[in-house]
Amino acid sequence: MRLGTAYFANRILRHVEKDMQKLHRLGFDFVIHTLSEFDLQFHYGNLHQIVEVSQECGLQVYLDPWGVGNVFGGEAYSNFVTEHFEDGCQVLENGTTIHLACPNSPAFQQFMLVWTEAALATGADGIFWDEPHFNHPDYLKSVPNHWACRCQHCQIKYQAQFGQSLPLIEDESVQQFKRKSLVDFLQPLFYLAHSKERQNILYLPLCLPLEQTRSHWEAFARLPGIDTISSGLYWQLMNQPVEKVGQSALIFKTLADSFGKDHLYWIQNFRIIAGREAEITLALQLCYQNGIRNFALWCFEGGANESWAACANPALAWQTAIQTFRKLKRHEHHGKS
Ligand SMILES: [Zn+2]
Repeated sequence: MRLGTAYFANRILRHVEKDMQKLHRLGFDFVIHTLSEFDLQFHYGNLHQIVEVSQECGLQVYLDPWGVGNVFGGEAYSNFVTEHFEDGCQVLENGTTIHLACPNSPAFQQFMLVWTEAALATGADGIFWDEPHFNHPDYLKSVPNHWACRCQHCQIKYQAQFGQSLPLIEDESVQQFKRKSLVDFLQPLFYLAHSKERQNILYLPLCLPLEQTRSHWEAFARLPGIDTISSGLYWQLMNQPVEKVGQSALIFKTLADSFGKDHLYWIQNFRIIAGREAEITLALQLCYQNGIRNFALWCFEGGANESWAACANPALAWQTAIQTFRKLKRHEHHGKS
């Protein structure tokens, strides 16, 4: 069994080092550091050192293109969309350009190759490809009640693939086109990481009803460039009962097994509501019962370092998650011995 956490918002090496030592003491196996566009531009040298010091503390390190292009998940802002608003951003069905890069834009594809080269050059063990998406209301910075993308690049690509104009309504062919576009966008990045013998972890979002999720995920899970598929139902954020975590974990683990991929399931450890910390224990237990063995917590210390993400009682949420994981790990160990 393995445990990891996302870590961000601090670029002061001596503080990072103490936190990484602490994570190792607490039994964590890996850490996910965010490498936002801001980090790439202004903290790149710091990130190099942060990766190195984390590995020296005994942790595996994955880097996350946090908020890059506003296409990957996360709070961080994108400078790419400012610089490429005309030629690199998604366009809604009503013709409005929005502040999300388009995965079919050559400028963004090129930018992501640069980001990936830089991420790999830090010596990180792999990349955590964090929920790449077209405009969707479940994500920050997306525009609700509209779909994208009908930019010039998407229109040309759709015409070439389907032999007709890109529809104004998001029908099944458009959804298929968008899935294929994300696959085409990610594949060169996966190859690049593999060419340097690093791992690719892809986060698959849970923005469809659970019964439709598997067929949507399959297009990605089958890709040879992926080592690990990842997901996680943030039940309190999405106002869902915690039991849904177990259901999503079962679908997810079955899919990982059927494609021979490793798995990583995220447990909500941010914005946990006061008095509902015990649900974290239940979420972990339900996942464990459905075969999940590799867990990650979003995010470090219950989000205390980012007030927007902070749990009502960050310390309690964090301790609850760690203690439950340890109990499950002991159970796993005794079960095998
Ligand atoms: Zn587009």
